[in-house]
Amino acid sequence: MAQHSIDMLFEGAVKFKEEDFENYKTLFENLKEGQNPHTLFVGCADSRVVPNLITNTLPGELFVVRNIANIVPPYRKADEYLATTSAIEYALLELQVENIIICGHSHCGGCSALYEEEHFTKMPNVSNWLKLLDKVKEQVLALKPKTKTMRSYLTEQLNIEQQIANLFTYPQVKEKYLARTLNIYGWHYIIESGEVYSYDFKKHEFNLIKG
Ligand SMILES: [Zn+2]
Repeated sequence: MAQHSIDMLFEGAVKFKEEDFENYKTLFENLKEGQNPHTLFVGCADSRVVPNLITNTLPGELFVVRNIANIVPPYRKADEYLATTSAIEYALLELQVENIIICGHSHCGGCSALYEEEHFTKMPNVSNWLKLLDKVKEQVLALKPKTKTMRSYLTEQLNIEQQIANLFTYPQVKEKYLARTLNIYGWHYIIESGEVYSYDFKKHEFNLIKG
């Protein structure tokens, strides 16, 4: 199986060059000059969430950061190597993106892991990373969801709200947002239906994006 998968990837690289690359040759040639993405997309590392596919975008449009449970850690300077924080800092200060989308998704393993702590004792870094969602878990439990499905949706959506709040700890986010040079969105992508729900900041609810 593993051999088969990797063979497919090697064949895929050839197929890409022969087909998709040829179709977008001019675009790729232009992109060699540099990138100027309009949007920072913060998504989950989950293999089922494919940013360019679900936004119908091309190379050069999205600057993408993906991690477990689409988390935006609060801004800080540290001696540790901060991948997510660095990428967001770069998108804001160097790329000057116009939009930030925090995209959570249905059936998120990172979000459900909050309720299966014992399963992650052998993954100290994952456990520690998910501590960033302690507050979200607390909020969800206080709302006493009746079913696991409701608990998942609540966790995923409250997580998106929390990560938007965390974004405001980053340099320049507040001033850019108030000056309307930066738009911020929270999306909840539903894997099995292809639907995306967008966060309404005033009503604190997620509404289906329609054509
Ligand atoms: Zn996820």
